[in-house]
Amino acid sequence: MPEEKNELEEKLTYSLKSIWEDSDEKTNKKIISFNTDYAQFMNKSKNEREFVDNAEKLLSDKGFKPVSKVKKLKEGDRVFRINRNKCMAIAVIGEDDIKEGCNLLASHIDSPRIDLKARPLYEDKDANMAVLKTHYYGGIKKYQWVNTPLAINGKVITEDGEEIDLNIGESSDDPVFVVSDLLPHLSRKQQGGRKMKDVIKGEELNILIGGMPIEDEDISDKLKLNVLKILNDKYGMKEEDFVSAELELVPAGEARDIGIDRSMLGAYGHDDKVCGYTSMKAGIDIKTPSRTSIIILYDKEEIGSVGNTAAGSTFLESFMCDILSKIYPDYTNEDRRSMIENSRGISGDVSAGVNPSFKGVHEMNNAAKLGYGIVVTKFTGAGGKYSANDAHAEYMAFIRKLFNKNKVKWQPCELGKVDEGGGGTVAKFIAHMNMDIVDAGPALLGMHSPFEIASKADIYETYRAYKVFLES
Ligand code: MN
Ligand code: MN
Repeated sequence: MPEEKNELEEKLTYSLKSIWEDSDEKTNKKIISFNTDYAQFMNKSKNEREFVDNAEKLLSDKGFKPVSKVKKLKEGDRVFRINRNKCMAIAVIGEDDIKEGCNLLASHIDSPRIDLKARPLYEDKDANMAVLKTHYYGGIKKYQWVNTPLAINGKVITEDGEEIDLNIGESSDDPVFVVSDLLPHLSRKQQGGRKMKDVIKGEELNILIGGMPIEDEDISDKLKLNVLKILNDKYGMKEEDFVSAELELVPAGEARDIGIDRSMLGAYGHDDKVCGYTSMKAGIDIKTPSRTSIIILYDKEEIGSVGNTAAGSTFLESFMCDILSKIYPDYTNEDRRSMIENSRGISGDVSAGVNPSFKGVHEMNNAAKLGYGIVVTKFTGAGGKYSANDAHAEYMAFIRKLFNKNKVKWQPCELGKVDEGGGGTVAKFIAHMNMDIVDAGPALLGMHSPFEIASKADIYETYRAYKVFLES
């Protein structure tokens, strides 16, 4: 097929193109090396606490300081603030007056997973096993989480305030944990007629944790006690400590290249750590910008952005006022309003790419393809744009011009067909502050599964798009 368009077609139409098609060897190298760093970061950042810890290290290495340690701020200064070890805000102070607004990148660093209940451990005598009860976190298809190695990550706080970090299952000589599904030979009656969401029910997401009795103890629950003894010997834990703990089952193992051409990256938690990581990297890599850059990494988006570490809290405004006060110690309410309402943002979150086996959920003219660049989503929500932030045409025009001018590959899309389903992001919470905001991030296959798939080219392009936005 000839590439050339006729004159009128050239003038009036536009078409989308794969990043790889236009990419040269030099750019391909950048794509690969960016993804290698990202994969390494992901391997050690499976939950929001780990992400924040690793981000803090990275940012400190790059000269960012806790904002509490800084008395006055001026252009070029780089600071961050951590909220309860799970949520983080980062700023690079720009040349312009902060009262004229900031450029904000907002994303979330929590991902769907399986959490332990407060009294998780019991002994099943019929099965001769020690088992953990769980409550899943976020919107998972539960059947995807069975028969796959899981690691236990998280934190225990003892009654005396001592912190115990657990990370079991990531090292190759660690044990792993598993939810075991029923064998096909016996599942016809029990599972055969179940609807998809109940193939594995919530109360069937039970974790196998032990099968060996404690020696020489005259008690009934020998398997349970053996598990508790090991936890006590290794971590100083006792049973009641589960109550003040956040222990999470996440897929064990590392991010992997996918495809013989290695064009894709498979990992747990692309949603939405891919936007968290690329926005943080954009903040690290920019020179002093004109407008102050703010990057916020939220927790609890997957359960509705509620809670004080989520986008529904006042943390962002608090952080921005913190910065304002260190530039203008006597700032007025009018100054605060001016700073916030003149700010503009990108809500960095992932979208759904076309899956070759399930094309029917998309309307192809408005579907995202892997490898076609950052997906700009004017509105999310469901059923008639319900509960969406629908970005204004004026703001879409600004974003489109910015990306085109800087040769960022982007694709406009909707999550799926009208009335097919839907979802939300943190955008509407930022919009609540009266800022302009639009969703933009890479497309994924297998979102919310233990192994999500993204195009390496899209991940790099998302980083480029975010950087260009911060520089605008
Ligand atoms: Mn998300
Ligand atoms: Mn999600």
